[in-house]
Amino acid sequence: MFKPNDKQPSSTLIMNDTFAERLGNVERRIVAACEKAGRPRDGVRLLAVSKTNPPEAIRAAADCGLRLFGENRVQEAQSKISMCPGGLEWHLIGHLQSNKAKAAVHLFQMIHSVDSLKLLQALDAAANVALPVLLQVNVAGEAAKFGMRPDKVAEVIDAANQMRKVEVHGLMTIPPFSPDPEKTRIHFSNLRKLRDRLQNETGTPLPELSMGMSHDLEVAIEEGSTWVRIGTDLFGSR
Ligand SMILES: *Cc1c(COP(=O)(O)O)cnc(C)c1O
Repeated sequence: MFKPNDKQPSSTLIMNDTFAERLGNVERRIVAACEKAGRPRDGVRLLAVSKTNPPEAIRAAADCGLRLFGENRVQEAQSKISMCPGGLEWHLIGHLQSNKAKAAVHLFQMIHSVDSLKLLQALDAAANVALPVLLQVNVAGEAAKFGMRPDKVAEVIDAANQMRKVEVHGLMTIPPFSPDPEKTRIHFSNLRKLRDRLQNETGTPLPELSMGMSHDLEVAIEEGSTWVRIGTDLFGSR
């Protein structure tokens, strides 16, 4: 799966080698974290965060077998996705303005970053087919960060259950940055506990937890992540 395709021209081959090595490292870390947590590897999906990277980098990733890609801006995705290989799945992981909901539902198969009821309503109105979404929660109550307050999420799930197209599959968070991943653990475990409570309160299955990035994926997996969003450690620093 991680072997470079030897039919590619040599410049692509070099890039594939690099990408394949990075992917191999990330994959080994995911496997080790799953083993440590006693979880099956297929319970964690790797979302390759390709923001700011050109279509050639995404092609190299696709050549290595990756299919799930994350972008954080509608405008960038709009110009990029058509230049990338077909058959890939695109996920939005960045803040979305309600007036761009229509564009977003055409570009993305899943939205990880629904941070308001207003946005959820706009997505529901814009979607023509079932749209899986995750609700972004501001777990640490940071002033300058997008995401719902933990005590607001239940009412958004109840509202979503009355909508036509959007389906809430779980929660997502971007915790406060700390160079020490152990300091982030509490935020991941709080998101999991909130999920458990919301499942009971609302009777809605919420199997997905989108949490963990390049520097803290191990801790996130130990705390129950089902989607790790990895940019830097796959594509290099931005
Ligand atoms: C950029 C980004 C990532 C990837 O972060 P890395 O540290 O580069 O792995 C993950 N999630 C979100 C929401 C992002 O914007």
